[in-house]
Amino acid sequence: MRKTIEIAGINIDDISMDQAVERIYEFIESNENHSVFTPNAEIMMDGITNKQMKAILNSADMLVADGAGVVLASKILGKSVTEKVSGFDLVKNLLIASSKRPIKFYLFGGKPGIAEKANANIICDYPGAEVVGTRNGYFTKEEEPSIIEDINNSGADVLLVCLGAPKQEFWISENKNRLKVKASLGVGGTMDVLAGNVKLAPDFFRNNGLEWLYRLYKEPWRFKRMLKLPKFILYVLGIRIGLIKK
Ligand code: UDP
Repeated sequence: MRKTIEIAGINIDDISMDQAVERIYEFIESNENHSVFTPNAEIMMDGITNKQMKAILNSADMLVADGAGVVLASKILGKSVTEKVSGFDLVKNLLIASSKRPIKFYLFGGKPGIAEKANANIICDYPGAEVVGTRNGYFTKEEEPSIIEDINNSGADVLLVCLGAPKQEFWISENKNRLKVKASLGVGGTMDVLAGNVKLAPDFFRNNGLEWLYRLYKEPWRFKRMLKLPKFILYVLGIRIGLIKK
């Protein structure tokens, strides 16, 4: 039975990392594709301000709290999620688990060459993990059917979709029933991290809910987008004190 926590009209799974990994194995055993999204505060704010995005997030088969902002929001509302399950950490745990219980991955997204670089690093860092296909994330509408065909012919179980938000959530939602994989994960910048092009924030920042600060320092041009984080927290505070009615 799925246990969810409602945050500003969006139903986040109250789930630990280990449970999330197990759920993906359950999806792999099933006969259909499942969507998994990993909203951070920015994506939550997109869901709050865009009805279609909210519906897409709520249609997910698993929606995990990626980021300290979402965990904090759950606490403000007195419903505290079990733990942060970031997209990158979820993928990392799946790669580790797949050495004992095999999973076939397809890597989709990033600039040309990035998915191949990620694959090369996976071969070195996660012996046992199997990547059965790669495709960069830049394509025209006309190219989509051949991308889907390639994914379907690869025999992949898990599709990593790294097109950035909200593009990846819309893409997965639109193509869910055409894809023969068992789980499609919208995991943003994960491909760049796997490829070694983008570094994860040091542990101090990751463990203290300050990943956003590190990102702002490394990528200051994100400033405008990142304003969604304080906006999200203020919105949730508004709900908490009764100023905002959902
Ligand atoms: N990306 C892509 N296709 C696109 C747009 C973006 O493959 O049409 C990739 C981009 O190369 C990057 C990833 O999506 O590897 C995440 O992009 P970004 O950091 O902008 O998004 P975020 O994950 O922060 O939402």
